[in-house]
Amino acid sequence: MEVVRKPGLIALFDVDGTLTAPRKVTTTKMAEFMQELRKDVTVGVVGGSDLIKISEQLGKTVIARRVCAPFTPSYNIASAIIRDYDYVFAENGLVAYKDGILIGTQSLKSFLGEEKLKQFINFTLHYIADLEIPIKRGTFIEFRSGMLNVSPIGRNCSQEERDEFEKYDKVLNIRSKMVSVLREKFADFNLTFSIGGQISFDVFPGGWDKTYCLRYLDKFNEIHFFGDKTYKGGNDFEIYESERTIGHTVTSPEDTVKQCTALFLAKNNGGL
Ligand SMILES: [Mg+2]
Repeated sequence: MEVVRKPGLIALFDVDGTLTAPRKVTTTKMAEFMQELRKDVTVGVVGGSDLIKISEQLGKTVIARRVCAPFTPSYNIASAIIRDYDYVFAENGLVAYKDGILIGTQSLKSFLGEEKLKQFINFTLHYIADLEIPIKRGTFIEFRSGMLNVSPIGRNCSQEERDEFEKYDKVLNIRSKMVSVLREKFADFNLTFSIGGQISFDVFPGGWDKTYCLRYLDKFNEIHFFGDKTYKGGNDFEIYESERTIGHTVTSPEDTVKQCTALFLAKNNGGL
């Protein structure tokens, strides 16, 4: 279907906290809003998670409208989601799709090399082993293609345990203390640490934050970015601050809809 687009303009969205409530799946209303918006402007998403997780967060309601299957495998959701947005940047853009087609990948393994990677993982696991916190579960380091996700409590914890850890961390700064130790220890690796979500932080090479995806958007001269963690240390900070983007801070998915409506869809606003 041919659509009328504002040439050179793209609206780019963070996922968690921006298009969905934290850790939740998107609402049908939001999914429909994004498809409406897409008729007028080019739309992209950039998330820190891998494509499967992003798709699970964004895809289910879209899928539900399309196929009445009681169970839809993740890869089907993923293939739907890359078609529902003009650009989908998983892992901050290290895995990039345009019009449903993979246009680029980058990996931590090939960038750092096995030896440095092992040094980092060994040290981090030792640090967690010595950490005194109320509970620990499993999956303390999740290896993704473009980053490591480190969780002192372990990613397999329940939602309740996750909420408890978040409260505990707010008082005792477990994650930020750990990050300062790792930052100092591995200063020569040129790594960036980003605390996001409730229980973990991401580790990736310098420059591999969300601004990484901008290299695929050269043809756009007006890039609007919407994110909830745009403050210093938040995982939207770099792209929000980037000279290439016009940054918008949102407080919830409802706020995202409100701001986008005012910016892009209000027909008589005399603006765009
Ligand atoms: Mg977010």
